[in-house]
Amino acid sequence: MGSIISVAKTIVEHSEQSVTYATNGDISLNAANQVKLKSTDKIVYDKYKAPEQKEKELKKFLVHVRRPAGYKGEYGFDWIRDEYIYPLFFIERDNNGSSCMSTLPLADNVEAVKSTYLKDVKNPVKPYGKDYYPAWLSLFPHTTEAQFKHGSSMNKNGAQLDVELEEIEEVINDGTEIIFESKNPHLKVSPQKISIGALIGAGKKKKFLPNGVKVMYYTLKAAINVVNNDAPLSQHEEIKIFAKLGSKKTEIGKLMVYQNNEIPKMELVLVRVGYQGTSMTTIEQKHVKDFEYQFKRNSFNQALIRAELKTDTSFDISTLPQTDRDVVFCLDNLSATNRPFSTDAYLHDIIKLYEKYGTHKPAGGSIDGDANKRTYIFLTDAPANSLYGLTSGDGSVAKEFQWGNAYVIFLNGLNHRHTLLHEAGHSLGLQHTFSAGEPLAGLTPPPFTFFQGHTDNIMDYTWQKNGNRNPFESGDKMCSFFKWQWDIMRKDRSLTTNY
Ligand SMILES: [Zn+2]
Repeated sequence: MGSIISVAKTIVEHSEQSVTYATNGDISLNAANQVKLKSTDKIVYDKYKAPEQKEKELKKFLVHVRRPAGYKGEYGFDWIRDEYIYPLFFIERDNNGSSCMSTLPLADNVEAVKSTYLKDVKNPVKPYGKDYYPAWLSLFPHTTEAQFKHGSSMNKNGAQLDVELEEIEEVINDGTEIIFESKNPHLKVSPQKISIGALIGAGKKKKFLPNGVKVMYYTLKAAINVVNNDAPLSQHEEIKIFAKLGSKKTEIGKLMVYQNNEIPKMELVLVRVGYQGTSMTTIEQKHVKDFEYQFKRNSFNQALIRAELKTDTSFDISTLPQTDRDVVFCLDNLSATNRPFSTDAYLHDIIKLYEKYGTHKPAGGSIDGDANKRTYIFLTDAPANSLYGLTSGDGSVAKEFQWGNAYVIFLNGLNHRHTLLHEAGHSLGLQHTFSAGEPLAGLTPPPFTFFQGHTDNIMDYTWQKNGNRNPFESGDKMCSFFKWQWDIMRKDRSLTTNY
């Protein structure tokens, strides 16, 4: 029988050699105090306890995906901005122009904003019980003609996006990884992992929310690339975001990517209108080219609508038959000196005249009719005071308002990127971001509106009710359509899906 040895605290094992040294209480004891065990010896670990393998706890935080600061509308990207739902902006005047003088959220119905941004979200998450609203990304699929005929090379390099870590508790560089998971093989995120150290290295920032709430966060710029190759997305897709440390893994965020297997086409006919015999509306060819680029790559592409610009060289009212009463009315409106120029009448007249005499008049005859699949943009240098543009529409209290398929850009709006896109937005069914029921009776009020002139949305105005400029006007940053606007525009009757 082998002897039984009691071991106090520490053992040192060399099991390969069937030799085990046990120290009597202290590892620093010299070799003479060590007891050599024979292979027949039996050790009773009476007082010995293996040190607890304490696994490191995952720090609590959320991760958001955000678009980069230099964004110009090259792809769709939308999320709830803090100021939409928290009272962060001092509002001097409300949308009726009345004195307001309060710090308020920019949206008048915060709950409606929140539920709108949860619509279509796959497997919504509430990490650590926190409300979480994923951002939305829309990309054209990069495909060959054989893979999908309405693909495009427009977003072949994908979107390079910022990653923001929002602390719930203080994070440390403990080896945590942030993991991005796409289940769809055609939707790729790279890199798929970011170390928390990289985010911490970007520098801690803080922001203040109401009631003294301080949020600490880190933003790693251009941290991930998201691209859709080889096949379109046949449904809205989610990219799940996890935090992982050792065996612990928790979902702490999400990015939604918009379905893109249907790309409606928007055909635009750009008509330069003249009325004085000798002069035509002057719009430089380079601006026409620029407009086309703007329509295709900096605006309606966000809603995954393919814009095609067809230009008509000219449409000179003064050359039309003077025996036509409509021609006479239109010219009279333009030249009358005893009363103001009527922009409404002009829009009405120009549509009517173009339907009769225009080179690219719609096959069905009626520009605002359901059969017409083109949007007509009439550019005129007729001055209309402060009015930049006007979009056709039909509404009465009895009937739901329907946006038309034509708009006029007046002198002040020519060469004005925002007006051209803004009016086209109306023609695709969008209201102003700030008007509930305006501008015409019969329009269904949107679920929420914003204070005028505070957002980067194309359907906002460039000025606020107190006369200040929209902060996004400078640097031409009013280039966003929101995700819920993508949904509306994509259903417009003037778009073609079968082409
Ligand atoms: Zn408007």
